[in-house]
Amino acid sequence: MERDADVVVIGGGIVGCASAYYLARRRLRVILVERAAVAGEQSGRNWGFVRQQGRDPLEVPLMMESSRIWRGLEQELGADLEWLQGGNLALADTPERMALFEEWLAVARQFGLDTRLVRGHEVADLAPGMAGSWAGGMYTATDGHAEPAKATEAFRRAAVTHGARVYTRCAAEAVLTGGGAVSGVVTEQGEVRTTRVVCAAGAWSARLVRSLGLSLPQRWVRATVARTTPAPPITRAGVWGPKVAFRQRKDGSLNLAAGGATDHDVTLESLRHLGLFLPNYWKNRKLFRFHVGRPLARDLARLWPWSAARRRPLLYDRDEVTPPNPNKVRRSLREFQRLFPGAQDLSVVRSWAGYIDVTPDLVPVLGEVGSPRGFILATGFSGHGFAMGPIAGRLVSELVVDGKPSLDLHGFRLSRFAETGAGKPRSVL
Ligand SMILES: Cc1cc2nc3c(=O)[nH]c(=O)nc-3n(C[C@H](O)[C@H](O)[C@H](O)COP(=O)(O)OP(=O)(O)OC[C@H]3O[C@@H](n4cnc5c(N)ncnc54)[C@H](O)[C@@H]3O)c2cc1C
Repeated sequence: MERDADVVVIGGGIVGCASAYYLARRRLRVILVERAAVAGEQSGRNWGFVRQQGRDPLEVPLMMESSRIWRGLEQELGADLEWLQGGNLALADTPERMALFEEWLAVARQFGLDTRLVRGHEVADLAPGMAGSWAGGMYTATDGHAEPAKATEAFRRAAVTHGARVYTRCAAEAVLTGGGAVSGVVTEQGEVRTTRVVCAAGAWSARLVRSLGLSLPQRWVRATVARTTPAPPITRAGVWGPKVAFRQRKDGSLNLAAGGATDHDVTLESLRHLGLFLPNYWKNRKLFRFHVGRPLARDLARLWPWSAARRRPLLYDRDEVTPPNPNKVRRSLREFQRLFPGAQDLSVVRSWAGYIDVTPDLVPVLGEVGSPRGFILATGFSGHGFAMGPIAGRLVSELVVDGKPSLDLHGFRLSRFAETGAGKPRSVL
């Protein structure tokens, strides 16, 4: 492994790989280290929705630029990403939910985004054959979907083509500083000297940055996905219903995800920043299922002074399988078949889960932290960062190379939590 780099990127998800790509394209010497496998976590396990609609207004300008990048990405990276610009349709089963969408249209108008409300036959036209009586929906024709692992891997490959070095099964164990600035990274394969570090470590970021004295409020939420056998063409749109969300892949199979409560595996981390998370937890308490089990037991075992996990905490669970919630798998197929009674032959061939890194206001942390100098956070994408991966990577490269980003990142600063508290989530999906 090289011992010097202009930038070290920590994390081989879409954000880290896109950052490495844009940085390498600007001729920097880039090293990316990944504790397990590229696209091994969220970036290889997500639904694949590339959605501008329904977001916090802060994210919309970034996401519109990301969407523009997505449209030309297969050509830019020279790879098949199964990109399909089929639109995104969010369904409302109650007038209250429809009113929420209606309110969000003001955000779309503010930024000139092509989101519109749809009702009656328009819903039926977008998802032919779908049963159910809908108050209506919100549709954005320029949204799309893509294959998560393919997109992340394509960014990795393109980064390497431009000279980046990528090391897998190589965790960053500590970030070194001197004189108030970043000076290097200790990795599993030795030390690298650098003055710039990008933390794109997803759900592990809070633990990693704590040793730098940075307090990053972040929770893990376990999200489950089911994959079906192939079906005849149903819809080109990504569909987000109240009880099930789905998209049809190129080979006809569907990714399904059940709505309802999300799974939170209690760990010692759950006790941190309670003040920031509790108000929204309490307000939405019906939307969470808390599980006390193996992840907490593992954390407690780590407290044991002789435990290997205590000595090298960022390595210890990298080969574990994140268990999908079987109830959710069953429910997602049942709900899908309720919507499409003709799809009774479908069955689930695979299911999996991933840990989402959630911030209190459901908006990422993106930008330089100030102290130590040279340290950039690109994390906390709160369940919708696959779509933002390309623009997040490009903005990281602008921060490093130009010293300032082309889009306003003020609202994404880490210090917002200390300055104004938890903030109120403003996304409607
Ligand atoms: C089930 C599910 C469905 C989702 N659906 C969507 C969707 O439809 N659309 C959407 O936009 N988003 C979706 N998301 C969210 C999206 O997947 C994430 O926001 C996005 O992938 C985040 O990318 P990332 O690169 O920040 O994180 P990750 O992909 O999690 O990558 C972080 C990487 O850092 C590595 N790492 C951690 N610590 C270290 C260390 N110390 N040293 C080296 N490496 C380290 C990890 O191993 C990991 O590979 C979904 C997520 C899940 C789980």
